[in-house]
Amino acid sequence: MNCNANKSIECTVKQCAHHCDEANYCSLERILVGTHEANPSVDQCTDCMSFRKK
Ligand code: SF4
Repeated sequence: MNCNANKSIECTVKQCAHHCDEANYCSLERILVGTHEANPSVDQCTDCMSFRKK
């Protein structure tokens, strides 16, 4: 399978449909990062809103 890895977006979420399996990169041209917290304070408070289940 050919994956168009975006070297500007590293990602380790292999369960995402946009992840390049053989390399830890996202294949999208851009992503949207958001938060599920009212007052984010650590990295765990942020989410990739472009995630799509494989
Ligand atoms: S869309 Fe988000 S979670 Fe999915 S591979 Fe790209 S950066 Fe990772």
